[in-house]
Amino acid sequence: MCSCASPSRVERVRFEPRRRTAIVSRREEVSANFVRVVLACDDLRDFQSLSFDDHVKLALPGPGADAVLRDFTPVDIDPARAELAIEFALHDDGVASRWARTAAPGAAIAVLGPRGSMVVPMDYDWHLLAGDASALPAISRRLRELPSGTKAIVLVHVPSPDDERRLSTRADAHLVWANSDAQWLSQLRSMPLPPGEGFIWCAGESQVMKAARAICLEEHKHPRHALRIASYWKQGVPGFHERLDPQP
Ligand SMILES: Cc1cc2nc3c(=O)[nH]c(=O)nc-3n(C[C@H](O)[C@H](O)[C@H](O)COP(=O)(O)OP(=O)(O)OC[C@H]3O[C@@H](n4cnc5c(N)ncnc54)[C@H](O)[C@@H]3O)c2cc1C
Repeated sequence: MCSCASPSRVERVRFEPRRRTAIVSRREEVSANFVRVVLACDDLRDFQSLSFDDHVKLALPGPGADAVLRDFTPVDIDPARAELAIEFALHDDGVASRWARTAAPGAAIAVLGPRGSMVVPMDYDWHLLAGDASALPAISRRLRELPSGTKAIVLVHVPSPDDERRLSTRADAHLVWANSDAQWLSQLRSMPLPPGEGFIWCAGESQVMKAARAICLEEHKHPRHALRIASYWKQGVPGFHERLDPQP
């Protein structure tokens, strides 16, 4: 048995499973392919989410009698107003995307979780935050949370240049946009990583994330313990779900 401590500084925190029934308070168009839906209910006053890449499960009306569950980032939490905002990257197909296009104030929706958080410390010398549209809510939350002056490199693939937007942050952030998977991967590959101890976080489509992992580990030689790469969806697979434990 190995007695050596893991060099990972990511801390796992678990919460009691919770199910809340919330009401759509408002729906806002963010940009061409993004919609923000603000949910409200008194139960949200004690909503806990310690990490930018936490997720809740939304129970949405499926094609049959049963609801289907889809994962989304709690992007903005306002306990005082008992509100939770979710930002949907719209795409052509899918129950969640369809629901978000038309969600009307007053509609009820069940919100499950989060079941826990994987807390990535803020005090790394630098952070690389990279992903596609599905990861932009988590990335924008992290940018809002990083302390003043923290070095952040941000690489986001959005469907259209119309989706490129200003992301508010106190961090010293360098933001790069991509408009295709190939461009995003090529930018990730050629990106010079700063010196010091850094943490890389990537999320997006499964095959693209496999390629991203290889680039980070094999080409950038970035240490595994300071890397978190998550598949948020898989091309052609509705309701794709991957275990989101930290990578070995
Ligand atoms: C931890 C976590 C956090 C997430 N946070 C967010 C978030 O905050 N905002 C967000 O928009 N998404 C987020 N996602 C991704 C989201 O859960 C998936 O995109 C989900 O599949 C969408 O459900 P759907 O019902 O619209 O499509 P599904 O019914 O699951 O899929 C239908 C079809 O659409 C395709 N598809 C699914 N998602 C996308 C996409 N993003 N772009 C293009 N095609 C797609 C599938 O390949 C499939 O062919 C997150 C995922 C995880 C695991």
